[in-house]
Amino acid sequence: MNVDKLSKRLERVSTYIPKEAILADIGSDHAYLPCYAVKEGIASRAIAGEVVEGPFQSAIAQVKETGLEEEIAVRKGNGLEVLAPGEAQAITICGMGGSLITRILDEGKEKLSGRECLILQPNIGAQFIRAWLLDEGWQLTAEEILEEDGKIYEILVAQKGEARKPYADLNTEAAILMGPYLIKEQNDVFKKKWNQELTHWRKIVQQVEESGNERSIEKKEELIRLIEIVEEALER
Ligand code: SAM
Repeated sequence: MNVDKLSKRLERVSTYIPKEAILADIGSDHAYLPCYAVKEGIASRAIAGEVVEGPFQSAIAQVKETGLEEEIAVRKGNGLEVLAPGEAQAITICGMGGSLITRILDEGKEKLSGRECLILQPNIGAQFIRAWLLDEGWQLTAEEILEEDGKIYEILVAQKGEARKPYADLNTEAAILMGPYLIKEQNDVFKKKWNQELTHWRKIVQQVEESGNERSIEKKEELIRLIEIVEEALER
């Protein structure tokens, strides 16, 4: 991956950045996404935020090498603290777990004006983000699931709005877990992901049954409940 050729995952993320937006990429190891977005004329300017010294230095070096020091500010700090309130019109947070992305959003709430487009790409745990968006009044406007190099990724796009709307006519728990748009689309990657999860969960249930461990009964019952929810959603 480089600033001319992004990974498929980040290239797909870049397609959701509104044209001419000021982009903030949080957790911007190497600053590939902001460099690409500015170079391709997608974003007008960008902020690359990074909390760890090594990746922060890599981001500075990449921005310099790409000749975009005027357009891209590289800032060191935790999550959204690198931003002034309402400074960015698009915020990307990619390549992390869903619980970390959720924490970054929650701890940085006061930096959000509510006019931003949030483009979030969790590697796992997308359900934590969906639950937070729903609680905080952000409406999912698009979702994508894709596979690259044997790994499955999800992309969630949200704007302030009618947070419950995408969940109308769906089992809310299933839709938070699996994604309201993804459940409706049911593409091959989605089916692969959830069939893999089902196989994994069924194996755990079987192991608990064989072990006879009383302390794991609650866990087994919760897994059986989840299996039923996911099976039902896959049968839609
Ligand atoms: N966003 C890039 C991508 O998708 O390829 C890099 C992903 S890398 C796995 C995650 C990056 O986020 C790391 O460089 C890490 O230091 C940074 N990071 C983790 N927590 C952060 C936080 N609270 N604030 C800013 N950066 C963070």
